[in-house]
Amino acid sequence: MTSLPISCNSKQITMGSKDDQNLKMLFFPIMAQGHMLPMVDMAKVFALRGAAVTVVTIPGSATLIRPTIDLFNSTASSPIHLRLISFPSAAELSGNISSLPPLVQLLVFARDAALLSEPFDHVLKEIHPDCVISDIFLPWTNDVAAENGIPRISFIGSNFFALCAGDSIERHRVLESLPPKEETFVIPSLPHRIEMLRSQVRDPSKQNPSMTPFMEVIKRAKMVDSKDYGMLVNSFYELEPDYVEHYRKVLGKKAWHVGPVSLCNQEGSDKLIRGGGSKGGEECLKWLDGRKPGSVVYVCFGSAGDFTTAQLREMAVGLEASGSPFVWVVRNAGEEWIPEGYKQRIEGRGLIIEGWVPQLLILNHVAVGSFVTHCGWNSSLEGIAAGLPMGTWPLYAEQFLNERLLVDVLKIGVEVGSKVHDFASEERPVVEAGSLETAVKRLMGEGEEAEGRRRRVRELKEMGRKAVEEGGSSYNDVGNLMRELMERKARV
Ligand code: UDP
Repeated sequence: MTSLPISCNSKQITMGSKDDQNLKMLFFPIMAQGHMLPMVDMAKVFALRGAAVTVVTIPGSATLIRPTIDLFNSTASSPIHLRLISFPSAAELSGNISSLPPLVQLLVFARDAALLSEPFDHVLKEIHPDCVISDIFLPWTNDVAAENGIPRISFIGSNFFALCAGDSIERHRVLESLPPKEETFVIPSLPHRIEMLRSQVRDPSKQNPSMTPFMEVIKRAKMVDSKDYGMLVNSFYELEPDYVEHYRKVLGKKAWHVGPVSLCNQEGSDKLIRGGGSKGGEECLKWLDGRKPGSVVYVCFGSAGDFTTAQLREMAVGLEASGSPFVWVVRNAGEEWIPEGYKQRIEGRGLIIEGWVPQLLILNHVAVGSFVTHCGWNSSLEGIAAGLPMGTWPLYAEQFLNERLLVDVLKIGVEVGSKVHDFASEERPVVEAGSLETAVKRLMGEGEEAEGRRRRVRELKEMGRKAVEEGGSSYNDVGNLMRELMERKARV
């Protein structure tokens, strides 16, 4: 029997006396920032505990994570190996997908990624990992791993609350049984009373045909779910204890909470290059240096959140009217959306950045006092880990559930007023400027309500920090999984 991981000291940790006794873990994220970044963070967490870690991706996506892995390896005693695999032939990837919305492109890609199964199989035969941790959107990896006798653990960039709520909505066929005139419903059998609008849940019967590939991948992922060894979740016990328990007892599945994984990026340099680095980042940080502590609202909708011109213009008016300084990250937009004279009016008070920013550095800058987010789970948890109250503006996927967690359960969020789930920006009704103005004023206000939110999120920040430290809940769950896999390895 080998010795077990007991320390998260980044310098020297071994699990056994021989290399072949190290736990070998293979991570395979899907090719999107919102999935690659937390999985590479996770890979770092396990490598720091002495696991021999390989990250698999395709050449086109390696640029997003190579700088992070190189920097990690420059000081790590257990370096991460980056292993590239290619499609057998580019022609085999379905037609021209560039005209589809970014999210649909990703999901078409997820479906076609099954073409990678042969090269993936070669990698497994060569490396013989003790487990495969692969994206939920790569369900075929379960079959390839099983053929090689390797357990597959899935990674879904979500939290226990959303997993439990999503399961309950489906299990109780809530949408199907809702009377046609009823617009709201309460999610059954959850520890808290959670009310939602019908329009905030994806309704498969009303799905745009361009989403068919998405449906196929989701369907397959759900079928495979019960065959998985378990799931890795980027969350921590103290954040949502009722839902960790509910997930384990009611859903009866194995899951390990190992987050907030973004906290493994401790140095400024780690945070700066996460996601491949950016040009606008340094300008933004310099701008923030000149602002008062806690005075700035940071507004960002993840890696793919896009909006119509009409919506962007409303946002511009709302942010201006809020009276707070702001950093606003805009994606997929040309200059023409900016209202006339707007840039001059907000000069010195607002900064608009088109493109990628170093989000972890911005969130943790002393000048930032709140975060308006699309409630992507990474962003939400990064906001919590930075101790920031959040303005919630979900767009699609499980973001509306995350909004409920932030607003109703954790009581650290203020709803902006997004009411319709849709992947296509033009299908979402425009949220008026006044709603954003009011939400920002509530977030940045001084009364007991705003102070209470700030106090609660600062407490959660502290709990998150402790969770990943030696002896903390996430630290221990990393150890629990490694121990279990080592015991399995000793048996087989
Ligand atoms: N992110 C970033 N810079 C940006 C936009 C996003 O660093 O300009 C990072 C962010 O820190 C998070 C991830 O990209 O880790 C986005 O994940 P999330 O789940 O929030 O949203 P998604 O992009 O998947 O919708």
